[in-house]
Amino acid sequence: MTDIPAIWDEETDVVVIGYGFAGATAAITACDAGANVVLLEKAPEQHKGGNSRVSANIVFWPADIAQGEAYFRALAGPYLDNISDEMIHVWAAEMHANKAWLERLGMIPVEMPYIEFPKMPGAECVRVLKNGEGPIGGERLWYLLEAAVAVRPIVTSFETPAVSLVRDGGEVVGVIAERGGKRFSIRALRGVILTCGGFEANPAMLRTFVDGLPNLYPVGTPYNTGDGIRMASEIGAELWHMNNVSGPLLAFKAPEIPVAQWLNLPHGKSYLFVAADGARFTMEGEPCSVGDFHGKVERHGVWMQQTLPTPIHMIFDETYRLSGHIGKANADWDVVHGNHYDWSDDNLREVDKGWIRTADTVGALAELIGLPAGALESTVSRFNQAAAQGSDSDWARSPGSLAPVVTAPFYAMELTPALVNTQGGPRRNQHAQVIGADGAPIGRLYSAGELGSIYSFLYQGGGNIGECFAFGRIAGANAAKEIPMEITEGVPMLAEV
Ligand SMILES: Cc1cc2nc3c(=O)[nH]c(=O)nc-3n(C[C@H](O)[C@H](O)[C@H](O)COP(=O)(O)OP(=O)(O)OC[C@H]3O[C@@H](n4cnc5c(N)ncnc54)[C@H](O)[C@@H]3O)c2cc1C
Repeated sequence: MTDIPAIWDEETDVVVIGYGFAGATAAITACDAGANVVLLEKAPEQHKGGNSRVSANIVFWPADIAQGEAYFRALAGPYLDNISDEMIHVWAAEMHANKAWLERLGMIPVEMPYIEFPKMPGAECVRVLKNGEGPIGGERLWYLLEAAVAVRPIVTSFETPAVSLVRDGGEVVGVIAERGGKRFSIRALRGVILTCGGFEANPAMLRTFVDGLPNLYPVGTPYNTGDGIRMASEIGAELWHMNNVSGPLLAFKAPEIPVAQWLNLPHGKSYLFVAADGARFTMEGEPCSVGDFHGKVERHGVWMQQTLPTPIHMIFDETYRLSGHIGKANADWDVVHGNHYDWSDDNLREVDKGWIRTADTVGALAELIGLPAGALESTVSRFNQAAAQGSDSDWARSPGSLAPVVTAPFYAMELTPALVNTQGGPRRNQHAQVIGADGAPIGRLYSAGELGSIYSFLYQGGGNIGECFAFGRIAGANAAKEIPMEITEGVPMLAEV
């Protein structure tokens, strides 16, 4: 555990760690309640915003609180275990309160149809809101929150990752952070709020906690590396929902680009996906048929986590190559930050880069990518028969989306499972307090957002952002309400950075 510094470098009332929707909401609320707030962000300013900024910016709003609670319980299913009735009620009530709160910030809520599990009890309450007319995304909600932070006296420090929490007995009294390669300490007189996102960009952690998806990559921010989980664990926090992720979807990960790219598939038909044994394993399509329901699938009437038989290759022919660019990115991190890779329309630049491999025959292609040649040849031949008959008896791909893979040369592109976000992290209660392994809240430590989210299993789209606002407000208000520790003589309060 981190030692308590003999002399603190800086001092404030509330330290918020991580500047996405949850951090912004917590900082705004604590500031409005009269607290001095420092908001620490690991990313440089040009990469600000975390997953929040690059998200589709849609918010799940339960129109009725009791129905919202019923829907929540149904989605959690067998994973409801350790979520208290009170917690569920507070979640539903605060998610409901989000609309009015966002309207006060300037949101123009526009409903869009998106009930992900319409047969579940309570589903009739589901409304999904975007900010204003027009397509989803576009950072429109992010700009509102960013403007609300900017007009308040909140000290925001980019490129300043929190490194550890300082615990004194039963409570957290400050944070060790890093700026310009140097460590420094900030004493938090009232409280610390963890809002530093999940572990989407920490491959080792993903392998530890998520079964059946050994090589997962994020489509969102590469800065969410599970720091909050490490920091909270070090001081004895209990973890929950670590195995629940929004994903997988099938994407492409270029070695040179830190996040995975979405695929652009509907333009052509002569392609299929195969596993390591050369066999098809899914109905190919958009968005790759494994991205629906945020990565959960219904089998035998039971919902379960989708897994994928990696490595996976997309196999296609010359006709498909000429039909348009296969890679794309829409709402993901790379595009928003202006780094978007400009995929060539004929896919030849990507062939030259070695991202797409090519050979004159299907057998030679199989050898090139290390698949059993006979198996791949027979899979392609069976797929071609299905295309000729207009009926895919193996995977029920729609007849209109089938065309035979027959025109040489042939191509293979390795696909990767990708994820939108993780849900796990330190467990919190209805007051947004982080809970210790002994079941009691750790004093003065709060959390909000996808770091230790309430979602344990099935997930309704818009729920993460809604939870950021709901528990960001609770965390900010409760941290600001803590009785402050005594100010230290001579330590700068709210140091400018
Ligand atoms: C492409 C995409 C689309 C999505 N669309 C939606 C949607 O429409 N609706 C919805 O509800 N959900 C959506 N999600 C999920 C949702 O965006 C996130 O779950 C939510 O925004 C998380 O917000 P947050 O504030 O908890 O974390 P983030 O917004 O990720 O912010 C966490 C911040 O903490 C910073 N950080 C990390 N470590 C440290 C550290 N040690 N010290 C200081 N700072 C640190 C990170 O750099 C980051 O800026 C989407 C996600 C993606 C990737």
